[in-house]
Amino acid sequence: MSFKALLLEEKNGKVAGAVTTLDDAKLPPGDVTVAVEYTTLNYKDGLIIANKAKLVRQFPHVPGIDFAGTVTESGNPAFKPGDKVVLNGWGVGERHWGGMAEKARVKAEWLVKLPAAVSTKRAMAIGTAGYTAMLSVMALEDHGLKQDAPVLVTGAAGGVGSVAIAILAKLGYGVTAMTGRAGQAEYLKSLGASAVIDRAEFANGPAKPMDSARWAGAVDTVGGKVLAAVLTQMAYGASVAACGNAGGVELPATVLPFILRGVNLLGIDSVMCPAPQRKEAWARLARDLPPEKLDAMTSTAKLGDATALAEKILKGQLRGRTVIDVKG
Ligand code: NDP
Repeated sequence: MSFKALLLEEKNGKVAGAVTTLDDAKLPPGDVTVAVEYTTLNYKDGLIIANKAKLVRQFPHVPGIDFAGTVTESGNPAFKPGDKVVLNGWGVGERHWGGMAEKARVKAEWLVKLPAAVSTKRAMAIGTAGYTAMLSVMALEDHGLKQDAPVLVTGAAGGVGSVAIAILAKLGYGVTAMTGRAGQAEYLKSLGASAVIDRAEFANGPAKPMDSARWAGAVDTVGGKVLAAVLTQMAYGASVAACGNAGGVELPATVLPFILRGVNLLGIDSVMCPAPQRKEAWARLARDLPPEKLDAMTSTAKLGDATALAEKILKGQLRGRTVIDVKG
């Protein structure tokens, strides 16, 4: 038996990918085999395919940090053939062959059974970006998110940002979307943002050590100077869910927001997130993310498009979410 995969190979220090047919015997060890139906392009997939962050140590490699599909073989009683499953993170697509293939073999404990209301295609429209958006919202709620001021979402037109806006709006929060792409204002409003602000206002870092309190909470996908500026504008006791670094890994901030306004900086990690929280996030996504908004933010591509799309996501040129149909 064989399967199709995007295979990354290293030659003379350069990494190149091509859609290749592989024998099943090449699948990595694991107790569950999944017929992958859809995967997706996340920012980290972009880094891996373009070999920008040296996240992969061993080639040849199949990228894809997430996938959704149907179990075909299982050596673990928790799963049986026919189960619809989703996988996010755990080093899959980095240290272990990933979802950009028609088949994947993984450890049972990495899989989550899909809620009945979520199809495999919609699961990947959500993908790791959308699941991270939900983890961010859950973290803000756990820290007492209020409805008395807007919630700010940075990197708003990207994958995490788009899903975060749709969830927060559905839950009744006022949402302000921060974007560097003024042309996406109507799109962001269609997802539920009540206001759109320009990233340039924040791009040079904090305007003052402490600024006027504007935000009841924030989902930050950007990091760097933008996050530092956002921290100075948080309301008393408000929290920022820091989940991304699209604008940089540094944090040129002061401790003043923490010690003068009791602001909380909450770290969000989707990769090693414990199973109970994952299951809760997927159950919440089935309930709190309007499917019509998800569909409106999603484009579909083929496995062979992944290399070109990787370059685009790293340049901030993709909008919303991109699902990859592995049979396409
Ligand atoms: P996308 O590329 O889809 O979105 C990122 C958005 O950030 C862009 O659309 C753009 O938004 C903005 N942006 C891009 N470049 C810059 C820049 N140089 N400076 C400021 N803003 C910029 O990526 P995702 O939404 O999938 O991921 C967002 C971030 O979250 C990434 O850093 C990713 O690694 C991280 N992430 C973290 C996870 C975790 O477990 N913590 C899991 C998933 C993602 P706009 O055009 O609207 O300004």
